[in-house]
Amino acid sequence: MSARGLKPEGHAVRAATGAVRWTPADPCPLHRGEHYTASGRCVECTRLAKEPAKQARYWAEHSADINRKRREQRRGRAS
Ligand SMILES: [Zn+2]
Repeated sequence: MSARGLKPEGHAVRAATGAVRWTPADPCPLHRGEHYTASGRCVECTRLAKEPAKQARYWAEHSADINRKRREQRRGRAS
């Protein structure tokens, strides 16, 4: 699920609760954590995006694990 789909959900949460962050039902597959209600973006991805070198290092270390989790998630939904 893309951040585009999360944005209306985040806005609804912010309107209802005033929260700046929330954990969506279908969060970022990398972090499985909180997203910003304003942008729908993953908090952790946003933080990493501010530091490209850090992000590149993160991906180098975790890409295999992330891809495996994504495959498992897809399989889980297909059944
Ligand atoms: Zn993320």
